[in-house]
Amino acid sequence: MAKWSKRTQAVHGGTRRSQYGELSEAMFMTQAFAYPSAEAAEARFVEAGDDEFIYARYGNPTNRMFEDRIAAMEGSEDAFACTSGMAAVSGALMALTKAGDHVVSSRALFGSCLYVLEDVLARFGVEITLVDGTDNAAWEAAIRPDTRLVFFETISNPTLEVVDVAHVVECAHAVGALVVADNAMITPVYSYAASLGCDLVVYSTTKHVDGQGRMLGGAICGTKELIRGPIEAYMKHTGGAINPFAAWTHLKALETIDLRVRAQAETATWLAEQLSGHEKLSSVRYPTHKGHPQYDLAMRQAPSAGTVLAFEVKGGKDAAFRFQNALEFIIISNNFADAKSIATHPATTTHQRLPQEQKDTLGISDGLIRFSCGLEDPADILADIEQALAVI
Ligand SMILES: *Cc1c(COP(=O)(O)O)cnc(C)c1O
Repeated sequence: MAKWSKRTQAVHGGTRRSQYGELSEAMFMTQAFAYPSAEAAEARFVEAGDDEFIYARYGNPTNRMFEDRIAAMEGSEDAFACTSGMAAVSGALMALTKAGDHVVSSRALFGSCLYVLEDVLARFGVEITLVDGTDNAAWEAAIRPDTRLVFFETISNPTLEVVDVAHVVECAHAVGALVVADNAMITPVYSYAASLGCDLVVYSTTKHVDGQGRMLGGAICGTKELIRGPIEAYMKHTGGAINPFAAWTHLKALETIDLRVRAQAETATWLAEQLSGHEKLSSVRYPTHKGHPQYDLAMRQAPSAGTVLAFEVKGGKDAAFRFQNALEFIIISNNFADAKSIATHPATTTHQRLPQEQKDTLGISDGLIRFSCGLEDPADILADIEQALAVI
């Protein structure tokens, strides 16, 4: 399969068929596996082959199909599928660090990622340095000869800051540090993390892979050596493996991810253009829109920045709330990457926990709206946004 394009891999990659030759991927709802003999059981525990399974916490045929398919899309050798994006992020970080290690991370992170770094890893004696992810010199200054691991979101949530991945990878690899990229925003369709040298690429598959707001899931993509070495060992013994129903849902969802994400990203691009300069907005952010401060970098890395944009409503929280409450079909929620368009007010929901000064540093203002473009008619999405802005 390897010679085919990403879009073809998304439909066929990893397919395994049982003796029945089912066309659609089977969902193997089984915890354990039966052996024909005691000798066969013993042999499997000595070494399980690619299509031999022991227990669903370790692996399952449906999980394996999903792992192979998302790895193929990413262009990675292998993947481990996890219960959620956070199981994937925390697993990747916990599996690869120990007390006394130094980790450098961008500051603009999803709240739970920040918690894992600053509360969990720090509690186990890992030293964390946070930097402005958009500042190449800050990465150079923070990465030290003893740095073990570097972490960032390729495009940050919710402020859509872009990391210069090739540069950070070069700095990290120069001292032998591993690079782990959280790739939720850029999606497997537009991903460049593995091709630019990140050692592990982590997904919340809850987002664009599922794409329809149903199942939590996550995946860690990387080399066979890392995935079937420390990552699998950590995940299988700590219980973070995805369940086969979620793996199956995500496996089937990958068949349509290319169409969905391209359509939603096209809407995001068009909306950024239509909304920029709007009298009720003080800014519109979308990395592959000309107005974005990192436009050149974003365009060098990928043709599109994905399905999410952000804009700042003039008039702070009151105006942002009036805008949200006036929306007709666009949904108020903290999720993103759904078929349904979603408007989020990060300052009072996803990032409420952050101290004000941190919100200020990150640019999470009271007027900021994160907007996840769905699959509705783009003209209707714009019309709903415009009528809600008119109410402010
Ligand atoms: C949503 C998200 C996560 C966590 O994923 P879950 O599936 O909700 O656990 C991690 N990182 C980023 C950037 C996310 O957007």
